Amino acid sequence: MQSPAPHRARKRFGQNFLNDQGIIRGIVRAISPLADQRLLEIGPGQGAITASILDTDCQLDVIEIDRDLVQILEDKFSGRDNFQIHQGDALKFDIGALAGAEKLRVVGNLPYNISTPLIFHLLSAHSCISDMHFMLQKEVVERLAAGPGSKTYGRLSIMAQYYCAIESLFDVPPEAFSPQPKVQSAIVRLTPYTELPYPANDVKLLQRVVRDAFNQRRKTLRNTLKGLISSEGLEALGLDPGIRPENVSLESYVAIANAVGDAQE
Ligand code: SAM
Repeated sequence: MQSPAPHRARKRFGQNFLNDQGIIRGIVRAISPLADQRLLEIGPGQGAITASILDTDCQLDVIEIDRDLVQILEDKFSGRDNFQIHQGDALKFDIGALAGAEKLRVVGNLPYNISTPLIFHLLSAHSCISDMHFMLQKEVVERLAAGPGSKTYGRLSIMAQYYCAIESLFDVPPEAFSPQPKVQSAIVRLTPYTELPYPANDVKLLQRVVRDAFNQRRKTLRNTLKGLISSEGLEALGLDPGIRPENVSLESYVAIANAVGDAQE
């Protein structure tokens, strides 16, 4: 019988397959899956990380959008009783329904074209997740980990840090993939807090405050939040209304959102 033609990487699905065994070992070591833990891998591709995770005897679910890759994964791994494939879009995947009572560990070499919306989707399910390990564009890892005063600090940094502790683990060069991406990559760990350090009374309001603030990041807080809070209101929270959004801490954004909520009651 002829062996099947090799899979051709699809750009629209952000397919850059890992082929560096040293990097794959490094990722699995960073995750350190334990037998009986439940993991979800997003975008398993041809199974570069999947195989090593399965060898640890944990329970692994994977979600893959590309039907051809789902077929390849079924051929490779369907004999394993600790493996379950879901064909579909991770952006629409119901993490809570999969997790049930037990928290999930989420991993993936994410498709870079949808990594930011995917992270926001996963953050919305933070209470069902014990940790996440992702390969991302290095620039996105820098945004996730950035603090006030940094040029990359913004909406993604604040909402990720609201829910999770962020650790940038190691860099991965383009040569580790086929085809090679045009950008540097990095591995990041996000660990959702069991108790939020700065809880907002209304997280939707916090999201609105942060979105409005960073819509025009070069303007002052007084101007970007004009419709929500006055200069006097900012001063009452100990904030200079002339400050730029990129210099305001997560704790202060939560204080602003809580004050806006109190004033609306
Ligand atoms: N994990 C593999 C590896 O490391 O070689 C593949 C990583 S590749 C960067 C991203 C993978 O995510 C591809 O397999 C792609 O088909 C899949 N993918 C893209 N968009 C997706 C989506 N919306 N939902 C689920 N999987 C998706």
